Amino acid sequence: MIRTRFAPSPTGPLHLGHAYSAIIAHDFARRQGGAFLLRIEDLDQSRARPEWEAQIFDDLAWLGLTWDGPVLRQAARSAAYEAALSSLSDRGLLYGCACSRRDIADAASAPQEGVEPIWGPDGLIYPGTCRPSKGSTPDDRAARRLNMTAALSNCSKIAFQELATDLQTAKNHIINTSHFIDNIGDVALSRRSGDAAYHLAVVVDDAAQHITHVVRGADLLGATPIHALLQHLLNYRTPIYHHHALIRDPDGKRLAKRDDAKAIAKFRGEGASPDNIRAMIGLPSRYKL
Ligand code: GLU
Repeated sequence: MIRTRFAPSPTGPLHLGHAYSAIIAHDFARRQGGAFLLRIEDLDQSRARPEWEAQIFDDLAWLGLTWDGPVLRQAARSAAYEAALSSLSDRGLLYGCACSRRDIADAASAPQEGVEPIWGPDGLIYPGTCRPSKGSTPDDRAARRLNMTAALSNCSKIAFQELATDLQTAKNHIINTSHFIDNIGDVALSRRSGDAAYHLAVVVDDAAQHITHVVRGADLLGATPIHALLQHLLNYRTPIYHHHALIRDPDGKRLAKRDDAKAIAKFRGEGASPDNIRAMIGLPSRYKL
């Protein structure tokens, strides 16, 4: 059975880009008698607000979307994330890292003057300052990073399937070891606070919710190799992905959370109907499912 999900962070209003993601995932599942699940990605407790969460439920219900099963909240999932981290750590795949962003920026630009530091899906590629030469026990107070070379020691490539906009044609994305080493690097899987990082949490949660198809914005396509690698390491099945085009404002800029001008709540306040919202983002009306 098809199972899709929508995984917003309660750090601002849902805007047209969120509606696009949620509706595609919802309609895709419903058309095939599948399930649509909701997950509140509130890992960043300093920015998550209960009023934004309440607004998410309200906007989704108003859009006519229904979701199945209990809503998963990342803030309540630390035991599951810790279990996954332990499983990686027990195999010597993690190391503790006490570097700040500043340290990383300094180290990345220091060794060879004039050589541009490389940016990966998480910002500057970690230059390896804290990487031990042999496996070591991560420091409790440090962030935990995946030792990419060790993680890839038993495989030469990682693959995932991507569905085209017709949601039918599948294309294989095959990622070589060199891409992981050169363009992604040793990603952080937990923060200095001890909390799980997004890449770890999203993979553990998609597995826990038995998600078969992940629908999300094209801005996350560069992070998907990390997720496919973690699924491989944690023995989870890799879902099929669909990264949709981003909804942009008229001057081509990506919609941001703070872009209240495109908030669903604003259109609601102005008297728009759910079908008007669907029309604005080029999706068919609810009655044509
Ligand atoms: N929480 C992320 C966001 O709001 C979505 C992550 C995902 O779909 O994997 O942009």
